[in-house]
Amino acid sequence: MLRILQILLILALIRAVWRLAKGVLEGAGYRRVDGPANVGVRLERDPVCGTYVSPTKAPALQIGGRTLYFCSDKCRREWERR
Ligand SMILES: [Zn+2]
Repeated sequence: MLRILQILLILALIRAVWRLAKGVLEGAGYRRVDGPANVGVRLERDPVCGTYVSPTKAPALQIGGRTLYFCSDKCRREWERR
């Protein structure tokens, strides 16, 4: 009987700690979607390997008024070779 009470107590403790940890993470801005940091950041797809890249630092290529973004110079060269 005492054992069941102990287990229940431990479970309640784990839940309390879990909730506390979640609250701390959310308070620190670790929310996954719709955070202020994500606004305006649009990812472009590398047409060679399919990786999503940030246009601000990705190697780019202008083709017919369209800009393509690549994950690396290697993929850009691969595209130019076609
Ligand atoms: Zn790539």
